[in-house]
Amino acid sequence: MIQQEENTRHLENFSFADFLHEWHTLEDKYSLVSPFIQGLVQNGYVMREVTGPAQNRVKIRDQVSQKETEVIMLGSNNYLGLANEPELVEATVQAVREYGIGCGGPPLLNGTTTLHRKLEKKIAEKKKCGDAMLFASGYAANVGWSTGLLGSGDYLIYDSQSHASLHDGMKMGSFRSIPFAHNNIQELRRHLMQVRWKSPYTNVIVCVEGVYSMDGDIAPLPEIRQICTKYGALLAVDDAHGSGVLGRTGNGTAEHFQMDSEIDIHMGTFSKSFGVTGGYVAGQKEMIDALRLCARSYMFSASLPPSIVAGVHAGYEFIDRHPERLTQLHDNVQYMVKGLRSMGFSIEVETAIIPILIPEQIQMSTVIKRFHEEGVFINGVEYPAVERDKQRLRISMMATLTKQDLNYALGVFKKLGNEFGILS
Ligand code: PMP
Repeated sequence: MIQQEENTRHLENFSFADFLHEWHTLEDKYSLVSPFIQGLVQNGYVMREVTGPAQNRVKIRDQVSQKETEVIMLGSNNYLGLANEPELVEATVQAVREYGIGCGGPPLLNGTTTLHRKLEKKIAEKKKCGDAMLFASGYAANVGWSTGLLGSGDYLIYDSQSHASLHDGMKMGSFRSIPFAHNNIQELRRHLMQVRWKSPYTNVIVCVEGVYSMDGDIAPLPEIRQICTKYGALLAVDDAHGSGVLGRTGNGTAEHFQMDSEIDIHMGTFSKSFGVTGGYVAGQKEMIDALRLCARSYMFSASLPPSIVAGVHAGYEFIDRHPERLTQLHDNVQYMVKGLRSMGFSIEVETAIIPILIPEQIQMSTVIKRFHEEGVFINGVEYPAVERDKQRLRISMMATLTKQDLNYALGVFKKLGNEFGILS
């Protein structure tokens, strides 16, 4: 495969997809993947070096010239702009002074501080659940609940656009898993009927995302809840991109549909709207107790540092006291979408994620490079993260981007839209 092709194709013509296969030897792997990734780093396509705090404008160091330039950030999941919010920074620093920089152990041993329990209770209260538990990341939370709750003979029925962390849970677990086409309720119903016909009493969990990370579209939770109830399945919602974005108070997709108390397994992350790292699962108390013992990514992994936990707790309080932040986020989304549509970009948007499809024949790395040269940080997503004909620019909107930032970015979209011939 790639080895023979390498003689006739230059490395820069390869894409991520070319590297998704089994390698004969580690030597083969290193000798091709290493120059490929190094090339991407040098071109500023991945691992762009940010030299200051995550905010509306960031400084990036060019890997070739070592020159720093300021760019407008349209590629951060820090949706509410909390990553560098003074109040949260202060709460985090304060906790470092009181608790030091880490716990030195997992939650069941020495890794549960008063701050950890306080945050777990806060999340449980927000999600209207009996209890909640913290994980080192959202990734660990998805792997943890899926492998911790489901055993052999059980079923996970999941949306085909689910995040890699759920897929990795499936690889690690002994349960059976069935995908349904993205947001296709008829197909979900068919799978549930078939599973129940074969196994009337087995445990079945349906997992969807509140907001999907690539298209920014929303799962139709009311319909999904209805059929889960009909077929005796639990409903798990990964709300990584919905919490802090949707709902009257920013409490997430379930709040958007006014059905917080109707979700069996709430999963979320602090790596988006809260601007730090960490994940959680919330649900009925007995389920959380069981997971504390059965979720290996919880039991065998060190706890989040108390400072991060304090920062997230302060984030919840900040969101409650500053509802205008949420309004600002949605205003920014509307402003950007209106501007892009008026230029001829065709986009569908429901949340803080704005996807802009780029024709397959255009090389994404070239587009990204031009955006950076023009002072806009934006992420490209290509196959295998999305289908081949669905490669895209993915704007992640932030509440703290100013009108001046957005106007500048819109100017760049117009210029490059014409340059690449992608305005419809
Ligand atoms: N679920 C979804 C839908 C995500 O987008 C992500 C992060 N990309 C995760 C889970 C994992 O979260 P974390 O970054 O906290 O590990």
